[in-house]
Amino acid sequence: AAKRSGRGTYRFFVDAMAEQSRSRRLLEEDLRRALSRGEFALHYQPFVDLATGGVRGVEALIRWFHPRRGLISPAEFIPVAEECGLIDPIGDWVIQEAVTAARKLPRHMTVAINLSPIQLKRPGFTLGVIHALGDSGLSPERLEFEITETALLNQDGSILAALGQLRDLGIRISLDDFGTGYSSLSYLRSFPIDKIKIDRSFVADLVDSTDSAAIVRAVVGLGHDLGIETTAEGVETSDQAVMLTAMGCTAGQGYLYARPAPIDDIIASLTTRYPTALAG
Ligand code: C2E
Ligand code: MG
Ligand code: MG
Ligand code: MG
Repeated sequence: AAKRSGRGTYRFFVDAMAEQSRSRRLLEEDLRRALSRGEFALHYQPFVDLATGGVRGVEALIRWFHPRRGLISPAEFIPVAEECGLIDPIGDWVIQEAVTAARKLPRHMTVAINLSPIQLKRPGFTLGVIHALGDSGLSPERLEFEITETALLNQDGSILAALGQLRDLGIRISLDDFGTGYSSLSYLRSFPIDKIKIDRSFVADLVDSTDSAAIVRAVVGLGHDLGIETTAEGVETSDQAVMLTAMGCTAGQGYLYARPAPIDDIIASLTTRYPTALAG
């Protein structure tokens, strides 16, 4: 009986793996067609100056409306796009779309775009960005690129060179999901960074965990000493916001302020909350 159940378990795993690779293949095929079929959209989430409460800018977050499966999270399809060579065309589309949408925002606001390290490695990436900015008329100072520290791990010098070029143009660089990767602190010295985004997991624990609070306080202090801004991700409660403000964190982003939404919805809500900011 043991032998039979053992074989049954084995069979189960083989079937599960076959099913997994089949659904992965299907996802890849659908992803290949998604761009030309117009299934992608960008939603935008504001980030807020904690000291003044004013909106500093918005982060573009890609959405895939799959014709059968409905909304698929970027956490699911971006890694697939990276592996099957689709991240470059998808990433180019995101940049084009986001810099165009950013023109609708008040001039003091920036737009932040998430990048995959694969995009940064492509020769000519910087030139493409220059063209996108030229076409849209957006000034480089209003553009921010977010890259995770994990993405910087074990990379060759080409990523560092590309980041340097972008920064020389006046584009700002943010380190996303800070605290979740390795050797965080050495990156602050070797990479040209303007902003640290403190990972949501630390913010979620902030009020209940003295350890998380100590880490956030240390990162904010470090940023302050190094001349790097800090943004807290995933701020959901006013208790968290109060603590972050007291610690001197520069900005907050999260459901407490706004959920990601299409640009026109964001602009409509800004108009209600900040009528003068939009007029000026
Ligand atoms: P991220 O860049 O760290 O983006 C923040 C994520 O947290 C977003 O998830 C956002 O919707 C979510 N979020 C914001 N506020 C809150 C909050 O208060 N509570 C909680 N629980 N979540 C919050 P989303 O949009 O599903 O994106 C997931 C990840 O996918 C992003 O993480 C980013 O790494 C990646 N991604 C999204 N758009 C793009 C893109 O255009 N290009 C690339 N390469 N990656 C992207
Ligand atoms: Mg991000
Ligand atoms: Mg993040
Ligand atoms: Mg994240």
